[in-house]
Amino acid sequence: MQNSNAIQSFVIVGGGTAGWISAAILARNLPSQNVQITLIESPNVPTIGVGEATIPSMVDLLRYLKIPLDDFIQKTNATFKLGIEFTNWLTLDHKYWHPFGHVGNHIDGKPFYQHWLKHHLNDGSFQFCDFSPAVHLARQNRFFIQNTQQKTPLNDAAFALHFDATLVAEYLKQYCLKLGVKRVESHVCDVISDERGFISTLHLTHSNLKGASKQISADFFIDCSGQNALLIGKKLRIAYQNWQHFLPVDKAVVAQSKLGPNIPPYTKSIAEKSGWRWQIPLQNRMGNGYVFCSDFCSDEQAIEVLQNNVDNLLSEPRIIKFTTGKREKSWYKNCLAVGLSAGFLEPLESTGIYLIMKAMLNFIELMPDKTCPAHNTDEFNRLMDNEFINIRDFIVLHYCLSKRTDSAFWQMWQTLTIPAELKQKIQLFENFGRLYHNPQDLFAQDSWYAIYAGMGKNPNQYDPFIDFSNFPVIEKAFKQSYHLLLQSAAHAPMHNEFLQVNAEK
Ligand code: FAD
Repeated sequence: MQNSNAIQSFVIVGGGTAGWISAAILARNLPSQNVQITLIESPNVPTIGVGEATIPSMVDLLRYLKIPLDDFIQKTNATFKLGIEFTNWLTLDHKYWHPFGHVGNHIDGKPFYQHWLKHHLNDGSFQFCDFSPAVHLARQNRFFIQNTQQKTPLNDAAFALHFDATLVAEYLKQYCLKLGVKRVESHVCDVISDERGFISTLHLTHSNLKGASKQISADFFIDCSGQNALLIGKKLRIAYQNWQHFLPVDKAVVAQSKLGPNIPPYTKSIAEKSGWRWQIPLQNRMGNGYVFCSDFCSDEQAIEVLQNNVDNLLSEPRIIKFTTGKREKSWYKNCLAVGLSAGFLEPLESTGIYLIMKAMLNFIELMPDKTCPAHNTDEFNRLMDNEFINIRDFIVLHYCLSKRTDSAFWQMWQTLTIPAELKQKIQLFENFGRLYHNPQDLFAQDSWYAIYAGMGKNPNQYDPFIDFSNFPVIEKAFKQSYHLLLQSAAHAPMHNEFLQVNAEK
């Protein structure tokens, strides 16, 4: 028996990071002789041009697409990222890390964090992240990729990439064209649906399609039209859940600048009076942005903050507006929204590209036939809702633990209502440092511990079973482990040198 209803044609609207990642994942999974994938990008609407910091799932995506890491790094001006250094978030002049990878190992069957907490509550001097391999490398501006066969104390450092978003879209475009994806440069000016409410045809302003046809039909449509949300929002009228009451920043001013002599293998996030500023190092330039809340800061003031803090600007500051939140449903009938058309949570933990990849991988898992039954779409929307909620809570955690009161923005955070789910997570943590266990959560337990510990939020007591372990022995092991990590990191190549070797390959 054959299912003659199999989807045979996809049209993707949008050629930003979301469009090309979606096309790449589809093309990797579907046979080009049976399934036609067409991507339409408008010559009139530029891509957003940001989205340059990632999390380790980006490296997984390259592996999944069978893209060689060194080639990708060379062609996208990429650098390595071991985590984020947060400055001025708790109080002015305070710093902490959110590293990738593990921090310490279980001892006597209990999380490392619990042993560290006992150390800390007994006036121990080590910070939680002093036991992160990634932090040791980052502090020394060093980086290397571990040989998986060889066990070293630095093995638990995971990494991600910083890259030039425009070059990434170009790289993926070439990748997709080789796999048979058809690219159309045209502006979609009308969207037609059939009697079931399924999208059937797009009208184009001009065309390089066969016979110069100005319309294109398909079985399934992927809306990667960015904040325009041309299909899911404008045509299908799926509402946008506004989460600005939880995450009030709504604008960013962005500009590029020259690099200093050392390229840091991490993103910097510096809290400012009305939001926070990023520094994302690439091989040839630094990406800078100030994410702010327009209730407290005008565009002119934001530009001034950026100009006062960044030397050697290479580009004119550009303002980008966004609304934190998510689409009520990102899959509706035969239309899937991916990227900014599906939602955006602000860039604090660099999760935008992860959500694109996750949406497409979930879609591949749940792909139906042309009928798109509600069971499949409902399950997809449930999975993506969980992703958005988990990430939202994790981001809000960074703000709501701040003790800053030096500006109206930070004073607002002292009384802002946080999501009920996060409130429960914090209440649980306050007792014995227990974490809400959600295996699907993108941010693993060590990430939550890193933010709690970094922001000085400790539970009232450590796990009572920790007292069964030999405290002096563990204290001694802490010292040894710290020095071992410090010395091992000192033997790793400088990040600049490592990139140079990669470029010469
Ligand atoms: P866009 O890049 O806006 O692309 C939209 C595409 O749709 C374009 O090709 C356009 O031509 C096309 N289009 C629009 N209308 C039409 C039409 N009518 N006809 C035909 N084509 C059309 N994510 C991260 O992972 N890390 C980060 O560090 C990060 N930083 C960010 C900082 C800021 C300030 C913002 C706002 C976002 C950030 N993101 C980040 C999110 C990331 O930028 C996006 O998820 C990613 O770029 C995907 O964008 P997109 O492809 O959905 O939209």
